[in-house]
Amino acid sequence: MKTAIYPGSFDPVTLGHINIIKRAAQAFDKVIVCVMVNSGKNGGLFTPEERIELMRKSIQVENVEFDVNYGLVADYAKEKGANILVKGLRAMSDFEQEVQMAMVNTKLNPSLDTVFFPSTEKYTYLSSSVAKELARYHANLDEFLPREIIDDVKNKLDIRSDECNGRQY
Ligand code: ADP
Repeated sequence: MKTAIYPGSFDPVTLGHINIIKRAAQAFDKVIVCVMVNSGKNGGLFTPEERIELMRKSIQVENVEFDVNYGLVADYAKEKGANILVKGLRAMSDFEQEVQMAMVNTKLNPSLDTVFFPSTEKYTYLSSSVAKELARYHANLDEFLPREIIDDVKNKLDIRSDECNGRQY
């Protein structure tokens, strides 16, 4: 059984992520989409548990599971008996950093390899940050976020802007 891990922040999940999840689910027997809580990125708009809830609302595919992890992805993969990491590549700018990460992860866990899926053209420019920025300006989000979560994102941004008086997430 080929299990792949798709790690990321998913704060929140976008249509770009969903596209990669579906393609990975076709390629592997099981895909674990894992919210990685990264010591370098503090805070975030949604808590890790909320991010998982939003993903569950957005996509139901039999061989896709969701999880959260606070450690290194190389250790997490070992724990799960997975030897493939899935990454999406939007542009050459993603490539350099992702190849470096792939090498580090294989160094930490020699049985772990990374498979890259090129972004579908229409999502090449799309990131969670772009979607959040557009949401702040009340742009139409239909082409960026799964429709099931658009209201959750808008509501969260409204609550945050009330609480924080404009502080950015
Ligand atoms: P971001 O905040 O930039 O969306 P994530 O950490 O949530 O980043 O991304 C997780 C993974 O999904 C990374 O491998 C990233 O390259 C990939 N990814 C993110 N957005 C897209 C997209 N629009 N198309 C393809 N891959 C993507």
